[in-house]
Amino acid sequence: MRTIAILGATGSIGTQALDIVRRHPDQFRAGCLTAHGSSEKLFELVREFRPDVAALVDEPEAIPRDLRFCQWVFGPDSTVRALKASKAQDALCAIVGIAGLDAVWTALDVCERVLLANKEALVTGGDLVMTKAAEKGIPMLPVDSEHSAIFQCLQARQGNPVRRLLLTCSGGALRSWKKEDIYNATVKDVLAHPTWNMGGKITVDCASMVNKGLEVIEAHHLFNMPAGKIDVVVHPQSIVHSMIEFEDGAVLAQLGNPDMRGPIGYAMGYPARVPYDAKPLDFAALGHLDFAAPDAERFPALPMAVEALKAGGSAPVVLNGANEAAVGAFLREQIPFGRIPEIIREALNAIPVTPITCIADVYEADAKSRSVALRKLGMRNEE
Ligand code: NAD
Ligand code: MG
Repeated sequence: MRTIAILGATGSIGTQALDIVRRHPDQFRAGCLTAHGSSEKLFELVREFRPDVAALVDEPEAIPRDLRFCQWVFGPDSTVRALKASKAQDALCAIVGIAGLDAVWTALDVCERVLLANKEALVTGGDLVMTKAAEKGIPMLPVDSEHSAIFQCLQARQGNPVRRLLLTCSGGALRSWKKEDIYNATVKDVLAHPTWNMGGKITVDCASMVNKGLEVIEAHHLFNMPAGKIDVVVHPQSIVHSMIEFEDGAVLAQLGNPDMRGPIGYAMGYPARVPYDAKPLDFAALGHLDFAAPDAERFPALPMAVEALKAGGSAPVVLNGANEAAVGAFLREQIPFGRIPEIIREALNAIPVTPITCIADVYEADAKSRSVALRKLGMRNEE
């Protein structure tokens, strides 16, 4: 039996992780559930899963009488305080954005394992986080489907060097759109992801291919691979979740129907596989799988992310901060979709690369990037 803190419990990843807990009450217990707002949703989850600690960033008017059995924590640092109080063995870090970095950092102090969905924590604090995890001997188990696929393939490595990582990419909602149409895609267009059902921010990132850029950076940190050894291949069916290539040219792939409970369960149960109602792959029904090169002309954010990774230091933090600011503005329908990569470019151009030696450096670069991005968007703050 493992006790898991589910940080970002009301989100897409959080609720799917809880579905795994629900199916295997003999193996997993949710010891801590946290969320930002959506208190009603969290109340329901607390009622069902009965954690020891629960947290909300936005303090609700009242806690229902029947939910006062657990410890409640509120406020901006509530996730971190709840995680510490819970004494959970594993932390599933499923908060979206750099807002989840503190939780990952704390999980490395108080938990035995980190189950990482929150890719922005590695994009921004990757060197620091991976160094701390290595020093403390804490496994960082990937939840992102591509990274889980690579991690699964790596189980067959047997000490052999890996020549290349191949990250697959659905191409997002605008994969076959013309460049001029992409610029003015609406929120509704962008949120219609063809293969995955996810939170709003990551769905926008998929459409702009920023997500794949963030994932290249995430893969660099998780698997200690240089940017030049990580390739992206567009694969619209999302059946091949990613691949690794060895020096003899052999490629191992992990396949499955697109269902995040696969990679979430793999991280939760590792090294054991955790069954759920996974639909078996029907190859005859699939008939064929398609692959293509990413189009840098229509989706310029992917090469920008690779460039930021190569530049190092604060560059990935700047890329991420400008993206978070721009995606927020796009989802509030304040800017056209095409402004997102433009703003990232402008922020990268405007802010010189500085070294990142501590978490405070990360937050400083992030704040600088957001303020440049918002100024260029003609906004004073995010609300
Ligand atoms: P989501 O928006 O559905 O859920 C986010 C969760 O985090 C919610 O519970 C929310 O209340 C909480 N949260 C948001 N901001 C917070 C803050 N400032 N402080 C504390 N809690 C906060 O997001 P999601 O789609 O579940 O994605 C979560 C993370 O997992 C992201 O980093 C995303 O890139 C990654 N990821 C998601 C998927 C997916 O299928 N959804 C796949 C791969 C990776
Ligand atoms: Mg992914």
